[in-house]
Amino acid sequence: MSSAATAAPAPAARLRAPADPALAQIARKVEAGERLTAADGAALFATRDIHAVLRMADLVRRRLHGDQAFFNINRHLNYSNVCALSCKFCAFHRKKGQEGAYEHSMDDIRAEARKARDSGATEMHVVGGLHPWLPFGHYTDMLRAIREEAPQLHIKAFTAVEIVHLQRISKRGGDGYEGVKAVLRDLMEAGLGSLPGGGAEVFDDRVHDEAFKGKIRSDQWLDVHRAAHELGLNSNATMLYGHIEERSERLHHMELLRTQQDHTLAAWAQAQGIPVSPDGAVVLTGPAARYPHERLPMPGSRGLTTGYFQTIIPLPFFPNASELEHLPGPTGLENLRTLAVARLMLDNFPHVKAFWIMQTLPMAQLELQAGADDIDGTVVWYDITKAVGEGNHQETSVADLKRAIREAGFVPVERDTLYRRVERDGASWRVG
Ligand code: SF4
Repeated sequence: MSSAATAAPAPAARLRAPADPALAQIARKVEAGERLTAADGAALFATRDIHAVLRMADLVRRRLHGDQAFFNINRHLNYSNVCALSCKFCAFHRKKGQEGAYEHSMDDIRAEARKARDSGATEMHVVGGLHPWLPFGHYTDMLRAIREEAPQLHIKAFTAVEIVHLQRISKRGGDGYEGVKAVLRDLMEAGLGSLPGGGAEVFDDRVHDEAFKGKIRSDQWLDVHRAAHELGLNSNATMLYGHIEERSERLHHMELLRTQQDHTLAAWAQAQGIPVSPDGAVVLTGPAARYPHERLPMPGSRGLTTGYFQTIIPLPFFPNASELEHLPGPTGLENLRTLAVARLMLDNFPHVKAFWIMQTLPMAQLELQAGADDIDGTVVWYDITKAVGEGNHQETSVADLKRAIREAGFVPVERDTLYRRVERDGASWRVG
């Protein structure tokens, strides 16, 4: 299988000495491809030498992807905003009967799938609230309807929070891990192709209890993704930051994701001759001579039998219209720094996404130079969080995405959901 990840890697580069002596040892580790500790992460967050942090993240990003920057053509479907929970940071949810509450009919969903197909989208991203009454069969019917209308479309659907909700309402396979797997199998059979990374927020019990009590905790979120990976599904991971959490809690979040990815990739890494350290660390971000592009995990190739985390997506918190409206939200510099630290700490994640719809396109351009290699897609009808204006019609053209990437100094590469290069002729496309 050819892929977007098979281009020649950029030559290994040396880092300029940081102005902050506290970063000297960290820079040496990054050059050598050694794993960073939580204390290193804290130093990266604390330093005033932000340029040194960004340079380190950029070095790692160029080792993995050279000057390529990925985008995709996708369509979002938020099938309902009715939700049994009331997370404080969420401006999306409504209660049944409340003004603004909606549920898309199956006809609407079919129409959206046809629009996606006709516009040449490669992916439909499907998420919604935890609807208190819709039966499990509604969700499998929804996937089948999309599949029937647009067979080529990859369906990335349902956060881990929704999967646990579906397990509860379906009563499939019991309450535990096997129940999650049973639900995932049914969804896969109906057309599910991968899991999005939402619902992770920040993996910390204090933050959980204060800001999104009632939602699943970190262990359940991680278990859903582990189950998906065991079944061969790839997934992404998010981190919603800039609300009531501390930077140390962001680092803990990253460490939990990194540890799980170590376990997922261990057998594959050993088969590839990639060193696995005695404590189980699988580091993919070292010098190009040791970790050439061909060793990036790709689905179904190079002896990889499981799915894995493809991408970390740091998401800045937007206070508007949420119960945490009194908080200021993160600044642009904090967005840059958090993304760069994520790139450096998550050394076993192939990709880091600057999700333009929440970061804004100008910010995403800067983040391409701070460790990001992906800015997501054309994105139609994304109404979970709005960074731009009041409307919910969030869309940009392929030409604008490409121009933004080129202006940032990179070569735009259209990818599919699994980061394979897309070859396109208008609305017709195939994986190259
Ligand atoms: S964040 Fe998700 S689970 Fe929480 S209230 Fe909003 S839609 Fe519901």
